[in-house]
Amino acid sequence: MLPSLFVSHGAPTLPLEDCPATDFLKSLAGTLPHPRAILAVSAHWDTEIPNVNHVAINETIHDFYGFPEALYRLQYPAPGSFALADRTRELVACAGLQVGVDGSRGLDHGAWVPLLLMYPHADIPVVQLSVQSPLGPAHHIRLGRALTDLRKEDVLVLATGSFTHNLRTMNRSRIDAPEPVWSQEFSAWIHGALVEGRTDDLVAYRRLAPHAAVAHPEDDHFMPLFVAYGAGGDAPKATRLHQSTTYGSLRMDAYAFE
Ligand code: ZN
Repeated sequence: MLPSLFVSHGAPTLPLEDCPATDFLKSLAGTLPHPRAILAVSAHWDTEIPNVNHVAINETIHDFYGFPEALYRLQYPAPGSFALADRTRELVACAGLQVGVDGSRGLDHGAWVPLLLMYPHADIPVVQLSVQSPLGPAHHIRLGRALTDLRKEDVLVLATGSFTHNLRTMNRSRIDAPEPVWSQEFSAWIHGALVEGRTDDLVAYRRLAPHAAVAHPEDDHFMPLFVAYGAGGDAPKATRLHQSTTYGSLRMDAYAFE
């Protein structure tokens, strides 16, 4: 049975970089059973209710501005999967959540950046599921729990966001800039809560975790972590697969839940 995964997708330029996070993502697929299909849950698709995309071939969305031309040439034309889109809708609806369908949307960079590094051939079908960041952690744990059965069906639930995400504190001039103390303290607290399975504390992270408002001025990039945690089941066992930082305060941590 596959674990559910949370990965940090970093800056859009990540595929052009050579850093510990790219080394990690390039090696990650080799440590997992081969999935039949992938359900990508990205911070960059934020909608009022959960939506799944229902397309034959995923368009590569370059949803960023002012980056090097080489980045706009990257493509990730993975097939979609009508069967997985329908199965995902069924599971989300069974959990009592409203769910919608998007018949045209492809993959945003939150999805295709890590996928390009993990599965460069783009030959595994990918369906994307949106987040609802105003609804907070409890909603996303519930959404993740609805997806648990996909793991038994050889589907990789790949949630992609950022372990810390404050675009104003990044040192954009140096990918290997030193990490600020607040980022270390926030990340250590979240790590402890994840591995100890302190679900109630995680749900209240904005109140309880040190420097939460600095680490995540907005909730959007942290919500995929809760989807992956929920998809790990009722009492998810968390394993940290990777930790590093880029640009000082942009953490690249990744976790598996099972
Ligand atoms: Zn992002």
